[in-house]
Amino acid sequence: TELSRIRNFSIVAHIDHGKSTLADRLIQLTGTVAERDMKEQLLDAMDIERERGITIKANTVRIDYPARDGHTYVLNLIDTPGHVDFSYEVSRSMRAVEGSLLVVDATQGVEAQTLANVYQAIDADHEIVPVLNKIDLPAADVDRVAEQIEDVIGIDASDAVQISAKTGMGIPEVLEAIVTRLPPPHGGTRDAPLKAMLVDSKYDSYLGVVVIVRVIDGVLKKGQRIRMMRTGGTYDVDRVGVYRPAMTSVDELGPGEIGFLTASIKQVRDTRVGDTTTTEKKGCEAPLPGFKPSIPVVFCGLFPVDSSQFEDLRDAIEKLALNDASFSYEMETSAALGFGFRCGFLGLLHLEVIRDRIEREYDIELITTAPSVVYHVFMKDGSFRELHNPADMPDLTHVEHIEEPRIKATIMVPDEFLGDVLKLCQDRRGIQLDMTYAGSRAMVVYDLPLNEVVFDFYDRLKSVTKGYASFDYQIIGYRQDNLVKMQVLVNDEPVDALSTMVHRDRAEQRGRAMCEKLKDLIPRHMFKIPIQAAIGGKVIARETLSALRKDVTAKCYGGDATRKRKLLDKQKAGKKKMRQFGKVEIPQEAFISALKMD
Ligand code: GDP
Ligand code: MG
Repeated sequence: TELSRIRNFSIVAHIDHGKSTLADRLIQLTGTVAERDMKEQLLDAMDIERERGITIKANTVRIDYPARDGHTYVLNLIDTPGHVDFSYEVSRSMRAVEGSLLVVDATQGVEAQTLANVYQAIDADHEIVPVLNKIDLPAADVDRVAEQIEDVIGIDASDAVQISAKTGMGIPEVLEAIVTRLPPPHGGTRDAPLKAMLVDSKYDSYLGVVVIVRVIDGVLKKGQRIRMMRTGGTYDVDRVGVYRPAMTSVDELGPGEIGFLTASIKQVRDTRVGDTTTTEKKGCEAPLPGFKPSIPVVFCGLFPVDSSQFEDLRDAIEKLALNDASFSYEMETSAALGFGFRCGFLGLLHLEVIRDRIEREYDIELITTAPSVVYHVFMKDGSFRELHNPADMPDLTHVEHIEEPRIKATIMVPDEFLGDVLKLCQDRRGIQLDMTYAGSRAMVVYDLPLNEVVFDFYDRLKSVTKGYASFDYQIIGYRQDNLVKMQVLVNDEPVDALSTMVHRDRAEQRGRAMCEKLKDLIPRHMFKIPIQAAIGGKVIARETLSALRKDVTAKCYGGDATRKRKLLDKQKAGKKKMRQFGKVEIPQEAFISALKMD
């Protein structure tokens, strides 16, 4: 296809503002899918994506559009991951297209993810067409929202397209705007050596790894021997095609085009997002700039509740890792929880998605230990280490200082909740960077420790604002702070699974809360059990679980024998799930509850 007849674009929006519905309408109106094959949310493939309304893997679809100027255009829509956890992938896939539709719900206005996503589009030098959606609803306030887009984002919204993705109103105007207001691909030479950007890849059990690429220069064809410039792998291309949205083979993909290739690639790990694909012989000289592999920033332990399911868990984790290069894992053993895995994720949502999939698709009940960020530990002997697990924290006497990751958090909130939000951020060691007003909403920007956010920040934010706040963040770097490892001791035995890194100033508070919780969760024994929180050798909080005076059946008043039997049986069943700590037995349940992020 001639470059001037190609338009590559993405849709950026806050969750629920109508991105998927609009994509469906564009596909439907251009007859890309026969009416009878139309089902909602064509692009959201995985169940979990549909349920949560998020996209994890980039999807693409090619639409042929006969425009009002009499020419037929090829429109390539890339549906980019819509979440901060995947921001590197988002920024890569944004670079594969030249324009964006900025969808804003006209009943809601600009939200935190609208901003985060549109800034990515601006960074990628996109032409942006604002689209105001849901104008079929009486609450739609087109003028106010257009003004807000101009004030907050700073782009012209005077010719925003007004639509209802639901009823189909305005969709023809969106298609025309794509052709007339977005630019065709810049440059690109057919005769040059092949240079294609690897946008994303996914594992298909029939085809192996399917790679989505955007061709910059040259031509990609079946039978070529290609090389991934960063990872070095070479492969024979056995299929080249486009999504319509069903996979459809094509003879070739030329400059400016977006499609997929398969080449008997075994694992997604060999296909890094942002890598450059070229031919093995006479390939291009330099890879595309700016490549960086995504690295996990949040770690936690995953253990099977039923320890006999350990091998099943290994199997599940290996399979999931096949399709997700940014998910890391290694075996971990814990005195409290047995055998499991220490897993690394791009963020909390990524963690939740993987955990959900293991539980649902593989039917394994999991214990998740408290998520921890990656700390940088600088030792007195000049060495440096990354700490993924608080249990591995070296002795403090050898530590020079510790640095923790900090984020820039953007929060949009209605005025009436502003005070609560500021207090929450302050409580979490936040430093205010900015605060602006747009209509009756405030936008606050905070520099916060990621550690304080992975815990329960998002839930707290939702609850203090009755669900009205929206939140987004990006990691800005590492900074030194007074951080310590807090241990929990039950009957003087340290319980590794409950160790956490905390700021020295809030250690007492956290320690007290943990001890109080455990006191309720651990059953009484025939002896007194001290429950302590400690830093180094120093106890900072303490509770005592008093001894059990009489045996458990005593409350049956010696009467009903069957009741007594039942009670003993129950006790026995409970025993199986107990973990022994020195002389103390702690039920599995206690760990699960103590580690719950609430
Ligand atoms: P996404 O999260 O941005 O992909 O949003 P969806 O496309 O999944 O839409 C979120 C919800 O808004 C769904 O329940 C849609 O049916 C609804 N919705 C989308 N567009 C419109 C619209 O134009 N009008 C109305 N009334 N509802 C819409
Ligand atoms: Mg969606």
